[in-house]
Amino acid sequence: MGENRGRTAVLDQFDRKIDYLRISLTDRCNLRCVYCMPEEGVEWQPHDAILSYEEIARLVRLFADLGIRRVRLTGGEPLVRRGVAELIAAIKAIPGIEAVYLTTNGLALQEQLPGLLAAGLDGVNISLDTLDRAQYAAITRRDALPQALAGLEAALAAPGLTVKLNCVPMGRNDNQLPALSELARDRDVSVRFIELMPIGLGKTLSRRTEAEVLAILEPALGPWRPCAAPPGAGPAHYGSFPGFRGTVGFISAMTHSFCENCNRARLTSTGFLKTCLQYETGVNLKALMDRGADDAALLDAMERAIRQKPAHHHFSTPSAAGDESHSMFQIGG
Ligand code: SAM
Ligand code: SF4
Repeated sequence: MGENRGRTAVLDQFDRKIDYLRISLTDRCNLRCVYCMPEEGVEWQPHDAILSYEEIARLVRLFADLGIRRVRLTGGEPLVRRGVAELIAAIKAIPGIEAVYLTTNGLALQEQLPGLLAAGLDGVNISLDTLDRAQYAAITRRDALPQALAGLEAALAAPGLTVKLNCVPMGRNDNQLPALSELARDRDVSVRFIELMPIGLGKTLSRRTEAEVLAILEPALGPWRPCAAPPGAGPAHYGSFPGFRGTVGFISAMTHSFCENCNRARLTSTGFLKTCLQYETGVNLKALMDRGADDAALLDAMERAIRQKPAHHHFSTPSAAGDESHSMFQIGG
């Protein structure tokens, strides 16, 4: 184990190269964002249903053999799980893995960032829907804006760390969108607006499209002009406003489908390899490991699942058999 066996990268049935893996470390979280998690009554996965760090490292070694080059750790809130820095160090040591990123609400970032950086973390995406403390408490159901901002400032102060900010425009935070964009005026940061997707609780809430967000931003900030995407931009497209140092981007799954260029797969905290956000198709790798599968059997199962990745989501058409029934915190957003 450990050496890259030099297999060529797997192409799916539509010739897309899958080189990016998002790994959910937990379904738990210290916030309860209205579009993601119910306030009460969540049934958490039992401890033994969750992949151990050893199992994750074993799977990432195999994924690297299949051409995965970049890994993002997410959740739930990844930083509520102990020992994330050790996991990052273990993944960074795997031949073929070029970068490890984290998506977090930022609450524990100020405290944990030194260890994460020492382990080799390459970039962090911080979710922040508002800069207004009362609105933050209403959206996340926790009065935790000061911790999130402390996490953001710590990340921005870390030399060499790529920092991006994710905001979901929902109508109720319309008045905050210019101020959130302003964070990119003097800082080398990407602020991205993510169209709310009809997944889990996201099915029930109002949303803003990219065009609606631009209609709010441009009168306040001037014309938004597209610019070249930074490396590893994924599904986001980027632009900027006059005088801005950083960028303002959009991830618009609803109005600007990017499925034809999709390069990603997801591993849930319970070990399910999921190849499209909207479908339940994939393979349960933890079940295979629990039954004693060897590396060759796991590789074959992974390769088969990746090849069968669906062509695209169908968010704008009625739901169908095989659709994902879980929320983002269970899938790994
Ligand atoms: N807890 C971490 C965080 O909030 O960054 C990581 C997990 S969270 C599920 C990842 C991202 O998914 C967050 O930026 C969140 O805003 C986004 N998200 C959750 N539900 C969503 C939905 N229905 N549509 C679009 N984005 C969603
Ligand atoms: Fe937690 Fe992230 Fe979901 Fe908010 S979006 S409830 S921070 S997992």
